[in-house]
Amino acid sequence: MSPGVAALLAQAYESGSIADGLALAERAYNEAATTGLPTDIAAVGHVFCFYLYRAGDMARAITIGEAALPWLRDVSLSRAHAETLRWVGLCASDVGHYGLSISCAVEMQALAERNNDQRGRVLALDLLGGCFERSGDPWQGERLLREAVVLARELGEPYPLFASLNNLGAVLIGKFYSLRDSNAADEAMAALHATLPLSREVKQLAPSLNDPYFDCFIDGNLGEILVHLGEFDEAEMLLERSLTAARSRGYDAVISRVRCSQAELHLARGNTAEATHLLSELLSAPSSTPQVATSLRAYYGLYLAHRAAEQPAAALRALESFRRIENQQTLQQLKARSEFMVTRLEADESQRKGLERAYGIAQAHASRAVALERLAHEDELTGLGNRRALDLNLPDLVAAAQPNQKALAVVVLDLDHFKRVNDVFGHAIGDKVLVQIAQILGNQTRADDLVTRTGGEEFVLVLPGMNQTDAFEMCERLRLRVSDFQWGTIAPNLAVTLSAGIACVPAFDASALLERADLAMYRAKKAGRNRVAVALTKS
Ligand code: GH3
Ligand code: MG
Ligand code: MG
Repeated sequence: MSPGVAALLAQAYESGSIADGLALAERAYNEAATTGLPTDIAAVGHVFCFYLYRAGDMARAITIGEAALPWLRDVSLSRAHAETLRWVGLCASDVGHYGLSISCAVEMQALAERNNDQRGRVLALDLLGGCFERSGDPWQGERLLREAVVLARELGEPYPLFASLNNLGAVLIGKFYSLRDSNAADEAMAALHATLPLSREVKQLAPSLNDPYFDCFIDGNLGEILVHLGEFDEAEMLLERSLTAARSRGYDAVISRVRCSQAELHLARGNTAEATHLLSELLSAPSSTPQVATSLRAYYGLYLAHRAAEQPAAALRALESFRRIENQQTLQQLKARSEFMVTRLEADESQRKGLERAYGIAQAHASRAVALERLAHEDELTGLGNRRALDLNLPDLVAAAQPNQKALAVVVLDLDHFKRVNDVFGHAIGDKVLVQIAQILGNQTRADDLVTRTGGEEFVLVLPGMNQTDAFEMCERLRLRVSDFQWGTIAPNLAVTLSAGIACVPAFDASALLERADLAMYRAKKAGRNRVAVALTKS
């Protein structure tokens, strides 16, 4: 990193206030634009996005964060990369860009998988859960966040647990808002009551994090819950304290939420005039990017206030605004889901894994995408996995075996003199042979084995749990099945054999395993074909 940029960033980090931090980050941003160094641009984008997020400037946080992401992907700043994804994702789901938020969560998952980073997994689940709730599915949001809390407790670090409990609380209160006016009012109240112990636990964790922003929004959240639980005095005190802190530090997004809770408190106490005044002020404030959830709450509060004041026309107007935002939210949600299905096609396998974990419960939404994705990973002729399937799955299978040093074998198979088969019997017969081979491979392997056709007449097997002896026996059996097969039923005088090379772990490295198996296969060819060779063990 260039010294000028590094110095500005250090000052920005140190700065106690959002306004100063923002100004310094912006200067660093302009400086980085002149140096043009990838590390500068990535690191500065990360810090700038952070301050914008805390200042509640969601639109700009998204723009700056998104611009920094390609740079963060290139340089090795994985913590900054993950954090930027998180802030962009949080802002995106707050302003209703659910598709962007989901893709940030998916990328966070992939990053966490790649680095085997449990903290990252927890925070990605947090983001995804929050996004589901905000996009109108609090049930899915709650399930994901409960899972995040369990993982965070296992992990035992304060911040991920704090964030998960806090987000679970936010999801439950969101559930309360979306159900309180429906015929599921009991479920709404249950959600509200469930938030209280979470909120108290969060408050206990906060001192260990030593961050005034957290203290501020915790007071705000607890105050909000207590308003609805009828604990008005404590609520009033907490909301006032949160508002004062948010104002003095410039946490604008917190301010509007707390103002909204204060209006709800007025309403609950029967002070409709104050509530109306506060909410009208809040809704007419020239905020660049209103948070969807806050706007919804504010219009709903305004509706209740006008209704209580017996102003039916005004009440109706507020209700209409409420419904309009709700409808937009639903549309955005549907749009996000369909866009998401298309991007899934292009998603790499580690993304898919992270996603499936998160989406495990929502199989129904994913089934179409899964079907499309299968096509992208399938060899057309034989129905086996293709090269892409191998490239995507092998690293994960190897990584899965590594922690407990489990056995795993990779086998490269190549048909012998296949060119001759084509030349003598024709290409169509050659194709039939390939299909038959695929069938034999399928019969000889287990459900957990990965069987792929990686090239014309070349196949690769990945056999989890098999050591060298098992793999050798299995390949010998396979070799005999192929050489003994009644090829005459496909074409008179046809004969087919194959050569195989096996490589086993240790050396938990996907490409090294493939390369060693390939070399062994060539040794089998050189030694006369129709045989199996084992790569020399490498530790
Ligand atoms: P070796 O024993 O050394 O592997 O000899 P080979 O003839 O099998 O090796 P080579 O790689 O030279 O030839 C592979 C042949 O496989 C070339 C091509 O005609 C044939 N082939 C590749 N893809 C297909 C396919 O999809 N269908 C058919 N029928 N043949 C294919
Ligand atoms: Mg070949
Ligand atoms: Mg061949």
